[in-house]
Formats: sequence, C-alpha cells, structure tokens
Amino acid sequence: MAKIAIIGAGFSGLSATAYLTAAGHEVHVFEKNYTAGGRARQLKTGNGYIFDMGPSWYWMPEIFEQFFNDLGYRVSDFYELKLLSPSFNMVFDDSVISISAQYSKIREMFESIEIGSAARLDEFMEEAQFKYETGMKNLSKMPGISLFEFLHKDLLKGSLRLQIFSSFSKHVRKYFSHPKLIALMEFPVLFLGAMPQETPALYSLMNYACLKLGTWYPSGGLGKVTEAMMKVAEAGGANFHFNSPVEKIQVLNNKATSIIVNRQEIHFDAIVASADYHHVEEKLLEPAYRNYKERYWDRKTLAPSALIYYLGISKKIKLLEHHTLFFDEDLLQHSKEIYKNPEWPKKPLFYVCCPSKTDDTVAPANHENLFLLMPIAPGLEDNSSTREKYFKIMIERLQKYTGDDIISHIGFKKSYCVNDFVADYNSYKGNAYGLANTLMQTAILKPKIRNKKIKNLFYAGQLTVPGPGVPPSLISGKIAAEQLLKYLKSKKYETVI
Ligand SMILES: Cc1cc2nc3c(=O)[nH]c(=O)nc-3n(C[C@H](O)[C@H](O)[C@H](O)COP(=O)(O)OP(=O)(O)OC[C@H]3O[C@@H](n4cnc5c(N)ncnc54)[C@H](O)[C@@H]3O)c2cc1C
Repeated sequence: MAKIAIIGAGFSGLSATAYLTAAGHEVHVFEKNYTAGGRARQLKTGNGYIFDMGPSWYWMPEIFEQFFNDLGYRVSDFYELKLLSPSFNMVFDDSVISISAQYSKIREMFESIEIGSAARLDEFMEEAQFKYETGMKNLSKMPGISLFEFLHKDLLKGSLRLQIFSSFSKHVRKYFSHPKLIALMEFPVLFLGAMPQETPALYSLMNYACLKLGTWYPSGGLGKVTEAMMKVAEAGGANFHFNSPVEKIQVLNNKATSIIVNRQEIHFDAIVASADYHHVEEKLLEPAYRNYKERYWDRKTLAPSALIYYLGISKKIKLLEHHTLFFDEDLLQHSKEIYKNPEWPKKPLFYVCCPSKTDDTVAPANHENLFLLMPIAPGLEDNSSTREKYFKIMIERLQKYTGDDIISHIGFKKSYCVNDFVADYNSYKGNAYGLANTLMQTAILKPKIRNKKIKNLFYAGQLTVPGPGVPPSLISGKIAAEQLLKYLKSKKYETVI
C-alpha cells in the first residue's frame, strides 16, 4: 500500500482520491480552503440562501453516473437529478428563445427561425453525436502523453469526422446562417473556453450534450455532487485536511519525497497535484523540476475569468427560468474583449441562474436565489467600483427583461471576481475555467498530466487533459489516478484493483 498526497479538493482532486482509495492506498487530501469543492464550493449565508459559487450547468449526466458506478454506487444513492424544462432561455434584443428539453420542439424552433434548418440540425447532431461518443469514450480518457495514443482503431477510423483541427465557427456556419442560431450553437464553447473561430469543431460534442442529452439539476445544487464524492472517498478511507495549503513539494533524486504543509514536513510515496497547474509549478516546485517555464504560460490562451454576483432576493421574480442567457448585445464584440484585446466589455453579455425556480432548499420561501455571471478576460484589473458599475448594467437589464423591481428587494449581495479567484484558488491570472480549448491546446497539446522529471508526481484538473468543465475535471482525476496506479505497479506497491 502506498501513501499518497492529493493537493486540492475540487472535482479533479476528489475524483483522483476516490479511485486511489478504492485501489487500497492510504490517501491524504490537503485543501487550502475550509471546505471541499474547489471552484464548485457552496456559499451558505446566515439568512437561508445556498449559492453554488461556480458551476451551475449539469451536462453529460452519464459521466457522473459512470464515476459513481466505478466506485460501487449510483448517482441516486446521493442526490436526485431533475431534467430542466425549458433547458434555458436566450434573451435577444428583439425576442426570447426558449430551448425546450424535447429535441422535436428544438427542431420546430430552428425551422421557425431559418427555413430548412431543422433538417440541417439533424445532420449537425448526427456528427456531434459521433464526436461525443467517440470523443468521450476514447479521446477524453487519453492521458495525452504520447502520439501513439491516437493509434486507437476507433480514433484512426473516425479521425477526420472528429475534426480535431478544424474550426468550430466554420463548422457551425456550414449548417446555419441566422445569427440567433449561430449564437445558440456557439454559446457553450464561448462561455467555457475560447473564440469559436479558434475552437476545434470537435467541440460540437457540447451541442449534442446540451441539446440532445439535456440540462439537468442535482437537487440541493452542484455542491451536492462534491459532497457525494467526498462521502465516497471517505467511505474508502481517505483522510481530508482542510485549511491546509501545501507550501512546497520536496524532491530528492527525481522523486517527490514529501510536502510542506502548515510548516510541517509529511512524507509520501506519490503525489497528485490538482490545484491550478501554474501554481503547482511556479510556487510548489523548484525551477529545475518544472514541466514548463513562465514564458510557456504567458503564451497560453486561458479560458475566461468572470464577474459574479450572488444575490438573495426577498420576492419571487415571475419571468425568469432556471437558466437565462442575455445575448442582447454584440456577441463578437464581447468575445474579442475576452480573447483578443483583453478589456472590460463595453456592452457585455451575461448569464443569470435562478436555481430557486427548481429547488426550494436554496432560498427561503417566496425568495429567489440569483447568480449573475459575466465572462471577462483573465488578468483584468479588478476593483469594487468596476464590479459595481457592471452590477448596475446587469441588474438594470434583468429588471427591464423581467419587468420586476429587483434592486429594492436585495437581502443578500456578494461579488466575486479576478482577485477572489487568485486569493481563494491560487488561480493563474484569476482564470475561472482553466485553459481554453483552442486548436493548439487540445489533447496532446495540453500541459502534461505527468511531471517529466519527477516520476511520482501527477497533475489533475482543468488545466491539463481533457480540459475545463466539471465532467472533464472528473475524468482528469480518474486519468491521473490511473497513471499513478501504473507507476505504483511498476514499483511493486500492492494495489487492490
Ligand atoms: C464561475 C464558474 C462557473 C462554472 N460553470 C460551469 C458549469 O456550469 N458547468 C461545468 O461543467 N463547469 C463549470 N465551471 C468549470 C468547473 O467548475 C471547473 O472546471 C472545475 O470545477 C475545476 O475543478 P478542478 O478540480 O480542476 O479545480 P478546482 O475546483 O479549482 O480545485 C482545485 C483545488 O485546489 C485548491 N488549492 C489551490 N492551491 C492549493 C494549495 N497550495 N494547497 C492545497 N490546496 C490548494 C483550491 O482551493 C481548490 O479547492 C465553472 C467554473 C466557474 C469558476
């Protein structure tokens, strides 16, 4: 049995922990914050509101089911899943499009906007389904260490159809020309990663996840998922150490031997670092042991940061659904302000989540729980007056849309932005979603899951393979655990599975 340290208790760290404890090892998780969940932590106010601080879209439910099944459980052992209907609303300057949970209704909606587009949507979805099934079954599970991984027969057979190196934006425009349909198809990649022009068409698999597999909600919020993962890990024997920021990884003869935490040195046989990759390299490792130099990170395209407001509202807001996307300003302009010429947006798009529409445990009776998110470039100067300026813009547009007075019913208000991401998660430039899924940052081109010089140090999380988002982070923890188990096997450590 090996003694393993996991740095960070977000989705990826919890996932790695669960697999490694299940394999019979002694696992210790060190988390700098006072609770698990990482970017998916919950904020519980004294007056009855429970906010998911980060993720709110639960897509690809079978990835979660697979995780729990792997460890001998089912999702339903821990939380109830609800299919949202409508999945979400998109607010444009002259209309609102409601995205049904039923594909037949989505087809009708497409056809009503652009003649012939329903049939084209079917074709698009057929391709997207292929990418989803092949990509999630094979590509996403690859450690991205060697080009030989691509020699898998399903990948070779489908390599052209996977469109790993062609542009998402061009792909969408081959099928649709109406700006509203383009915006609908582009929003998942835009909010989670990069300019659609620079995102591989492979990621139309997200359209399949969004429009065919549905948008789900775990009762109690996304925080229930990390809570469940922690229960699984603890049942396997994992030891959690909160308020325990790791300060250093000590290395001897190209082997990590111990970590320094709260000024104590603790010895381990192997380590999975699931905190932000850049932080692990730059702050926890001596320069000689880093996989990458600072200039490597400088050249990388990061996924966006975000300005977020958590609001408790002491009344019900009639016209709001669980998820609403405000696309009533110029999408391309805001994208450029995130990815091309980083600056605070002149006319931002934003997103509103109102989970109290589905779940009465996240707000007091007859109140609403509101989460406002505006994607911004990472590394922007962040101060309270800028936050407040954008709060006014978002809340006024929200009031105009709903026709409700919201401002005078705010009973709780907290903002979160670049500086908080840095302070709370050691996030590079305050990124919210890690590294962008660009053409040059996909699969084998992502930061490596294994340290090239330290044999027993592995990385997990949204900055390595397979990428940003909750399902990929969950998979990332599994891949790191598998790689570590291979290493332990080669060193003749006893493993149960
Ligand atoms: C606002 C927001 C909205 C999002 N929305 C969605 C969504 O709707 N759907 C979706 O699928 N994804 C979404 N995401 C992305 C998703 O939440 C992330 O991809 C995922 O949670 C990342 O998990 P992780 O384990 O890689 O990182 P993290 O969750 O950041 O975990 C890393 C952990 O390491 C800890 N740590 C850092 N430094 C140290 C140290 N020195 N010692 C010990 N611990 C340390 C951190 O405190 C943190 O807990 C969103 C993210 C954000 C921020």
